[in-house]
Amino acid sequence: MQQSQNGRRVLPVLTNSINKSPGSDLPPEITSRRWMYSQMTRAVLKKIVRAPFSIHTWAALRRTLMSNFLPENLSYRYKAYQRGECNRCGLCCKIQFQCPFFVDEGPYNTHCSVYTTPHAPSACLKFPLDPLDLKLLQREVGNACTFYYEGAPQKLSILEFARLYTEGIRQQFAKRKLKEITEAD
Ligand code: SF4
Ligand code: SF4
Repeated sequence: MQQSQNGRRVLPVLTNSINKSPGSDLPPEITSRRWMYSQMTRAVLKKIVRAPFSIHTWAALRRTLMSNFLPENLSYRYKAYQRGECNRCGLCCKIQFQCPFFVDEGPYNTHCSVYTTPHAPSACLKFPLDPLDLKLLQREVGNACTFYYEGAPQKLSILEFARLYTEGIRQQFAKRKLKEITEAD
């Protein structure tokens, strides 16, 4: 496994000079943008192929959609009730297959090579989104994940959800506008 992974990375090392510009925001483990995007595409395809046999694919799809399309006031709604810390066991990065960005430096000493870059998947950054998200992951890792919830926000009616959604989108646009103005100065 390790060997084949290393094998896969040989070509990007050779093409590194073409793809990785000086001052690149890529961490040392990511040898080129081309390699990174090809690995992301492969990972998505592997998940899709497993969809008929694995609930995890649907759980991952749910988290991907929610983390990308819900404004922050909704996607972070459960954060105030989230407890525990990541113990870096790395189990969530090895469900179905080992993520190509996963770095294992020993027991409880794992990390994600893209986590602190702009390329980190929102679904990974925002995990866990809510108790159902956590429950679906715990199912895959034998309840080994050290996050848990205490309490929950009030349930939302469809109207309340729509109001929060609109408000959240408006806030997001305002933030983006402010950023553009600040960057232009
Ligand atoms: S956190 Fe990083 S290593 Fe883990 S699944 Fe997400 S991208 Fe892959
Ligand atoms: S399974 Fe939970 S505790 Fe383990 S690395 Fe993933 S988020 Fe952290």
